[in-house]
Amino acid sequence: MVFEQVATGGCQSYLVGCEASRAAVLIDPELSRIDEYRGRIGQHGLHLRYVVDTHTHADHFSGSREIGRLLDAPVVMHQLSPAPHATLRLDDGDMLVAGQLRLKALHTPGHTRDSMCLLLGDRVFTGDTLLIGGTGRTDLPTGDPRALYDSLFDKLLKLPPQTLVFPAHDYKGRSHSTIGAELADNPRLQKRQRGEFVAMMQTLDLSAPTHLTEALRTNMTGAKPVSQLLAEASAKVAFMSQGELAERIGDNSCDMVILDLRERDAFAAGHVPGAKHLPRGQLELRVNSDLPDPTVKILTCCEFGKISTLAAVTLRELGYLRATALEGGLAAWREAGRPLTAEA
Ligand code: FE
Repeated sequence: MVFEQVATGGCQSYLVGCEASRAAVLIDPELSRIDEYRGRIGQHGLHLRYVVDTHTHADHFSGSREIGRLLDAPVVMHQLSPAPHATLRLDDGDMLVAGQLRLKALHTPGHTRDSMCLLLGDRVFTGDTLLIGGTGRTDLPTGDPRALYDSLFDKLLKLPPQTLVFPAHDYKGRSHSTIGAELADNPRLQKRQRGEFVAMMQTLDLSAPTHLTEALRTNMTGAKPVSQLLAEASAKVAFMSQGELAERIGDNSCDMVILDLRERDAFAAGHVPGAKHLPRGQLELRVNSDLPDPTVKILTCCEFGKISTLAAVTLRELGYLRATALEGGLAAWREAGRPLTAEA
């Protein structure tokens, strides 16, 4: 069996492949690592049959939708998942077949309603239901400590003690554990009475994960996080460096339109000499009158270099094929002490 564990910060993703058929399953991919997974799939000569999310992640952006789309593989989640892009939904006991690999889903609600673990031969992918030395938290949307207790003690922990445990997170660089080791040493599992366990989970008082809202928004709906929107926009435009712009504004033969997309006050306080003001919110409304020549070179700029990237994409879509974005924003320009014109 091909088996790869890919850590991204504390997140663990898994690529498993059948040696004979080259069919593969990717479990809990992270959006920022799509190129890495694709590289490994290619390196092993695998064909992605399924991409699985063990649950609706609240702490990072799932890459399932994106890699499923790129490699034409169904996105697999539990029946209770809210994600519209989950095209194959499993019930407890359902099995995925990838060549000679058999992955059986165990519905293990608690961390979330839609949590499941995947049993593959001698190992189980536990998602956030069981972690090494811990369990998933139960205080986030759809979490339920009673359900987690039942999932652990009535189901997952009844697997043979030698079963290898591969969790969706580990923050200490450990790759795996076993059911037996967790039963013996995992501090949370020492609360063997349901009431005790529930009381412990209810008093953990954990801080909310960063990106909670955005992660839920994107993972539950398939919408894009802002970072992905920007990354996609960056791939569709060319950039100009700040040094190049500095040289060009000193050159009188420069026939480029420098378009400052910030609000009026920011523009008035200091802009690149010769820049034209067109706030981003009015771009589509004023483009025909303000930029009559579609063949002109346009350089978009903004405070931090993000809005200008999105605007350059919009301009290219509107037919201004020489629209280019200033790398970095006017904040960096100002910081470097480059020339600015202020309005009186
Ligand atoms: Fe989680």
